Amino acid sequence: MAWQAKVLIHNGRSVPFEEARIHPLSVVAAYGVGVFEGIRAYRNPATGRFFVFRLEEHLARIGQGMKIMRFDDPPSLATLREGVLRAVRENAPDEDAYIRLQVQIEAIGSQASTGPTGWFCACVPRERSAKYASGLSLGVSSWVRIADGAMPPRVKATANYHAGRLAGLQAKADGYDMAVILNHLGKVSETPGACLFLVRDGRLVTPSRQSDILESVTRDTVLTLAGEMGLAAEERLVDRTELYVVEEAFICGTGQELQPVVAVDRLPVGDGRPGAITMRLQAAYESVVRGTTDAHAEWRTPVAA
Ligand code: PMP
Repeated sequence: MAWQAKVLIHNGRSVPFEEARIHPLSVVAAYGVGVFEGIRAYRNPATGRFFVFRLEEHLARIGQGMKIMRFDDPPSLATLREGVLRAVRENAPDEDAYIRLQVQIEAIGSQASTGPTGWFCACVPRERSAKYASGLSLGVSSWVRIADGAMPPRVKATANYHAGRLAGLQAKADGYDMAVILNHLGKVSETPGACLFLVRDGRLVTPSRQSDILESVTRDTVLTLAGEMGLAAEERLVDRTELYVVEEAFICGTGQELQPVVAVDRLPVGDGRPGAITMRLQAAYESVVRGTTDAHAEWRTPVAA
């Protein structure tokens, strides 16, 4: 059986997991005013030690989110960093762990409240996707991606997930594993919880940062690893019909990791099986997150025992 979450760090206090509370009229509960990060801690198989993957980049992104959301008393990134490491330590996972760090307007107030803020960090088990090896089928959603001028996707805000949720429910109802969402210009954006990569004419292609995506840490990891492998990559606008003619496709995200896409709108991607470039990148990602390579030690923050 998977290990169980024991505690949650809430405003610097360690609270039994089942007893964590916020008021139902808090601004985060009433209006969804919160920013969060999904982070992973991986267990190194040789040493049994845990590493938090790209913690600094996740902290930087939540910092940007708090700024754009105009929080007036944000916790320091040092406080949040310590909260993350403490949540892993105090939950004593024995397998890979998923961490949710969230800063929210915890006071009771109006939708325009800018504080006071509160924060929590949870560390829970999370299994790898069942489609990790075999690949996913995607369906292009009729729901439209949220836009920078309305609900900025660059901010990892709790409320943003309402739109992705609708797309995800539609995709399931239509028999797909996952949705792929187009933006208001009809260009490919991302999936409800991961970014998208394609291989076209032997080159990696991913929707640009102006395609209403979340500026994904994993996307950056993939671009860096691809560069080191000598693979050419383009960040650009992507048309819907390109999805039907590419050689390979995969999704990437902290929670979703790197998973092949084998069909879009029931058309096979390439030969309908996970592609060779995808599998090479998946393997490279696995070794860098887990620390079975010495490369990119700066991306792995060890959790002290
Ligand atoms: N897009 C969305 C909408 C997401 O929720 C996530 C998961 N955080 C991603 C992309 C991937 O981002 P990251 O690689 O930073 O986890």
